[in-house]
Amino acid sequence: MVLATASVAAHSPATAQQAPAEPAFAYTDESFADIQMLRYKVEGFEGLTLKQKTYIYYLQEAALHGRDILFDQNGRYNLRIRQLLEAVYTHYNGSHTDAFYTQLGEYLKRVWFSSGIHHHYGSEKFLPAFKPEQLRQALQSVSPALLPLQAGQSVDDMCRELFPVMFDPSVMPMRVNQKDGDDLLLTSACNYYAPGITQQEAETFYAQRKAPADPHPVMTGMNSRLERDPWGSLTENVWRTGGLYGGAISRIVDNLLKARPYADTPEQQHVIDLLVQVYRTGDLRLFDTYSISWLKETEGLVDFTNYFTETYGDPLGLKASWEAIVNFKNVAATRRAQALSDNAQWFEDHSPVAPEFRKEKVKGVSAKVITAAILGGDLYPSTAIGINLPNSDWVRREHGSKSVTIGNLTDAYNKAAHGNGMDREFVIDDATRHLLAQYGDLCDDLHTDLHECLGHGSGRLLPTTDPDSLRSYASTIEEARADLFGLYYLADDKMLELGLTPNAEAYKSQYYSYMMNGLMTQLVRIKPGLQIEEAHMRNRALIARWVLEKGRDKRVVEMVKRKGKTYVQVNDYAALRGLFGSLLAEVQRIKSEGDYEAARRLVEDYGVKVDANLHKEVLARYERLQLKPYKGFINPVYHAVRDAQGHITNVTLDYTESYDEQMLRYSRDYSGL
Ligand code: ZN
Repeated sequence: MVLATASVAAHSPATAQQAPAEPAFAYTDESFADIQMLRYKVEGFEGLTLKQKTYIYYLQEAALHGRDILFDQNGRYNLRIRQLLEAVYTHYNGSHTDAFYTQLGEYLKRVWFSSGIHHHYGSEKFLPAFKPEQLRQALQSVSPALLPLQAGQSVDDMCRELFPVMFDPSVMPMRVNQKDGDDLLLTSACNYYAPGITQQEAETFYAQRKAPADPHPVMTGMNSRLERDPWGSLTENVWRTGGLYGGAISRIVDNLLKARPYADTPEQQHVIDLLVQVYRTGDLRLFDTYSISWLKETEGLVDFTNYFTETYGDPLGLKASWEAIVNFKNVAATRRAQALSDNAQWFEDHSPVAPEFRKEKVKGVSAKVITAAILGGDLYPSTAIGINLPNSDWVRREHGSKSVTIGNLTDAYNKAAHGNGMDREFVIDDATRHLLAQYGDLCDDLHTDLHECLGHGSGRLLPTTDPDSLRSYASTIEEARADLFGLYYLADDKMLELGLTPNAEAYKSQYYSYMMNGLMTQLVRIKPGLQIEEAHMRNRALIARWVLEKGRDKRVVEMVKRKGKTYVQVNDYAALRGLFGSLLAEVQRIKSEGDYEAARRLVEDYGVKVDANLHKEVLARYERLQLKPYKGFINPVYHAVRDAQGHITNVTLDYTESYDEQMLRYSRDYSGL
């Protein structure tokens, strides 16, 4: 799956005209520990019909009601630990600026973020900075009614039970342990198997249930917890209405049924009916039927997933964590991609490559871009920017899959990147920074569209050329070809004519940022002393350094020093376009003729080696920006406006809720377990 190359509509002229008064919005929010919180904008929501908005409203309710399922799946003490922390956080009678309260807040924010006490990415347990004794004292001053006390338990009993889980590094150290040789179930803290069940037992249990020659095998075990019955035999406790997690699931089902009348298409209603049946029965064969109906439903504007989906959280890879997303098609981005696709032949005919290497008949590809409306379960707050489902091998093989990129999340990452100090540190002057701020995102998206929709599909091999002749250099050359196609055409009058770029200056933002990235800033992803390995990075270095060198005589682009720091300076954008065109012609020739030696020279001479001094300088400058390695999202708040009869007359969005307000509200309003 290639999920990193999303094409996005954020500020295209097509959306600008319909934008009403903007709600208060900022892309970045607070940060804590190793995490930066972001917000995403549900661009285009105001323009949807009332029916669609109402549909999304109930679907997002369904997406939020499963939140506690994931906390419990991630560890059997997580919900109780969250509850006691929240009780202290909201009822602490000491100073809210003292060290204990600050440390408690930070720990709770991490627990919320990870849906538990283990790191969301690394899965290792993180420890509070405060002392057990401080927490015990604080708990004594909170009303016991607010605490997760079990029958007959005193506060001290509860502390004795839960404190080792929180404070002792040797208790439940990993959520998912994958170390070869260990018993992966006994050493993992995740809650998919009851305590004491060994890996051997679970593997035997599921091996016995595998139908030997079933061409359409269900994903056995994916929606249940494996437990031991009173007689010691293993049994599955299925996640369904009336079963395990039934409290949350019945609320999910309620909201799916409320959403049903507002679906875009009868096929979507059928999808909901099947999903509700799956939630009620836990029937995995029915789940496959549901998946097939879901992936074939492509007409509706709004779409969603809401079920047990990915199995990364189970060391045996069987049990699926609960997740949900509601989204709708980004019409502007799809239209933009369509405009390029529709003109694919024009672009092919006018490209700077030699005529014998051009395609006589070319077909553009349009990619589907979606706008996320809500994130839930294992997609919240940390999330994917692309989705490719379902996961069943045989369903994918026989029926295909739905693959989408989530444009507004990519956009939020981009926007956050602008505010993070990189531009201030690495862009040469205010005028260029201004250019990037104005057109950077738009042209980035357009470049991605040109790359994906036209670049890869353009050109042709000579009839005598072996398609594998470039061997290990093939992917770098192929990415360079698609990138160069995009760079060359971004500056073309055709883009203006199609209404894709706003003026003849905008393309310069992409030219500058591409050169800065290829020559300098992408080096932050490489450890000191290493060279460039990854194909996309090699391609960017190759292009940037080749044009730097070929334009040296005419000083098209230069590396300059200001106050001891290195910057990229572009002196002649028109000449830079000419160089991109020349390199495109050469790269296409290499590919069309299968010229291995030329590919090798190009990549090895320009795309691999790192200037050690420049690398050191870039890393030091980056280090000082102190950027957070992990990011997650705060959801927007949906308000249903109702008339006297309770009918929804409008749905509005609010982006002002803070991270802790949101988490506390979710704990209050969406706890069904
Ligand atoms: Zn590509």
